[in-house]
Amino acid sequence: MLRTYITSVSVGLLRAVKLALGVLCLMLVGCEQRSDSLIELGGSTMGTYYSVKVAHPPGGVAAEQLQAQVESVLDTVIAEISTYEETSELSRLNRDPSPDWIAVSAGLYQVIAEGQRLSALTDGAFDITIGPLVNLWGFGPEARRARVPNAAEIRAAQDRVGWNKLALRATPPAIRKARADIYIDLSSLGEGYGVDRIAALLNTQGITDYMVAIAGAIRARGVNAKGQPWAIAIEQPMPDRRAVHRVVPIADRALSTSGDYRNFFEHEGRRYSHEIDPDTGAPVEGNLGSVTVIGDTTMVVDGLATALMVLGAQRAPALAASQGLAAYFIVREGDDIRGFGSPAFQRYLAQ
Ligand code: FAD
Repeated sequence: MLRTYITSVSVGLLRAVKLALGVLCLMLVGCEQRSDSLIELGGSTMGTYYSVKVAHPPGGVAAEQLQAQVESVLDTVIAEISTYEETSELSRLNRDPSPDWIAVSAGLYQVIAEGQRLSALTDGAFDITIGPLVNLWGFGPEARRARVPNAAEIRAAQDRVGWNKLALRATPPAIRKARADIYIDLSSLGEGYGVDRIAALLNTQGITDYMVAIAGAIRARGVNAKGQPWAIAIEQPMPDRRAVHRVVPIADRALSTSGDYRNFFEHEGRRYSHEIDPDTGAPVEGNLGSVTVIGDTTMVVDGLATALMVLGAQRAPALAASQGLAAYFIVREGDDIRGFGSPAFQRYLAQ
């Protein structure tokens, strides 16, 4: 797995920087950056990139050793919950035809249970059994095919979807599928789960000032190398450019952004993104370009950002307000965009 390092730019701009640095680091194998006040690690994972910044590293923390530990955590997460690895625990569960309880690891159970909680919260708009529809629309592990499925294909995939088709048993952890062909997709939670697992590793090392990111899922603790809160960029939901919409400072919080402007295809003038509405069986429509959620743990805010994207600009703000969720919405209005926060998000806008 290629390991590259990423300089400190706003997270929203990281992808472009990673590409440039990827080339640079290909020439300098094993390049890394460390100054007295900052260790920066990074590389590819889950089809995207990760970044770990440790400010004021405690004595005895060696960058190379930390990098190896971080990658071991990522390898464990992928082995548990990836649908892109056929040998992962989740892929084996998806292939298991048993109608009985199927024992699962505590890690996989934790992610599935959070998915079911979010389904209940959003009345099924968020649904981890969405996999057959995600794959039908070409956003899953199979090869990308930018085409619009027909109504019969959508109906057939929808028959396999439904969070009420999964039963959970906490002790010992196990899952029971109402249909053998249920296909669980944890991509909406997995990046956040990976960030939380890396943060837990850093905490055990006595590291108190860090920022961990996997794509748009971020967790920050303490302060940056300058002794200030970590500043996270929310980018404009524009597919053709990278521009910062606003910067929010966070300390000891997690943040995640979901949107319709990075992973999509266009057909006959319409954009089809990877956020799928289980009710219609199709990518969500509407003018909500992105949702950013701030909260305690990254897996939760990662899933909530997807859930609110699927609910759309009409329903999502009301749920955020009623549930006290700190969410920031960016909607498209003609050629313009407008951002607004839920009541619980206002404290981040005032800073
Ligand atoms: P988010 O909004 O966080 O999630 C969008 C994803 O959620 C969609 O792509 C879909 O999978 C799912 N989803 C869509 N609608 C719903 C809904 N209504 N309810 C619930 N979920 C929904 N990608 C690769 O290309 N190569 C890889 O090797 C690879 N490996 C991965 C390994 C792991 C462990 C994980 C978790 C993901 C991996 N991915 C891989 C997928 C890639 O990381 C995803 O595209 C990404 O996780 C989606 O996150 P996001 O922030 O882009 O969008």
